[in-house]
Amino acid sequence: MKTLTSPKLLKELLARHGFQFSRSLGQNFLIDENILQKIIKGAAIFPEDRVLEIGPGVGTLTTALAKKAERVVAVEIDRSLLPILQETLEGFSNVEVIHGDILKLNLDDLIEDRFGRQPFKVVANLPYYITTPIIMRFLEEEHPYASITVMVQKEVAERLAAQPGSKEYGALSVAVQFYTRPQILCKVPASVFLPPPRVDSMVVTLEKRSKPAVDVASRSCFFQVVKAVFAQRRKTLLNTLTAAGMTSMDKTALSQMLIALNIDPKRRGETLTLKELADISNQIKPSRPQA
Ligand code: SAM
Repeated sequence: MKTLTSPKLLKELLARHGFQFSRSLGQNFLIDENILQKIIKGAAIFPEDRVLEIGPGVGTLTTALAKKAERVVAVEIDRSLLPILQETLEGFSNVEVIHGDILKLNLDDLIEDRFGRQPFKVVANLPYYITTPIIMRFLEEEHPYASITVMVQKEVAERLAAQPGSKEYGALSVAVQFYTRPQILCKVPASVFLPPPRVDSMVVTLEKRSKPAVDVASRSCFFQVVKAVFAQRRKTLLNTLTAAGMTSMDKTALSQMLIALNIDPKRRGETLTLKELADISNQIKPSRPQA
């Protein structure tokens, strides 16, 4: 049976609806059944699962998800895709398409209305221009997602899963690993999309932790330390913290604090583990009281 990953069928469908690709909306549609099945397998969808899909496009991933899950809610920004989705999703009574911008929608209301605040899984072949904001939105707003399985630009996937000391390790790695366990599932060449994007991709799963990876007295202070540490990667930790303006402690006090924590003040911030960043944030005296 031909599926929507068939380039011939997809081109015919798009032509019949007079569809024009929008590069600015990151419209690169998947045309590889093997990769589609890898995403579905990686997302580990069970019959009782509720799924939120971001950017269904013509419904390629949506139909595959609908065959596995109890319910799929798909948010698509491009109005011109709605008639196509109506056609391709015909017969799937467990799918609902919402026309909207995932960055602007009130997610609390959507999740409450559609999933009753029950855990749900996010699955998406993400438009790359919103990858980081959308992932951060789910993490920081603490929506009751169980996992996020997404196709993202290869370099972003590497940053999400990066370990301390690597050049990919940064504030995004720390934030994602604070809330989730990232796992890269597979590499995806540009040739499996219509039209092919300029970059290669990876599928990554972020499994939500039951509690953050490290104990911090104040999240706001923890993320201020993280921001300061990665803002100037080439400087020593001591100089970065001294210059950041986030603490009332002077250089000597900061140095003593780091030594007491068994952290060499001359280290570069990019080598710090989440535990070390948490230790610093739990000891540093912020210049303003923290939430
Ligand atoms: N899921 C389809 C697939 O795998 O072939 C399409 C993926 S395509 C990379 C990204 C999709 O996200 C497009 O359909 C695009 O219109 C949609 N999109 C872009 N920005 C969006 C936004 N802010 N909110 C919701 N959907 C968006």
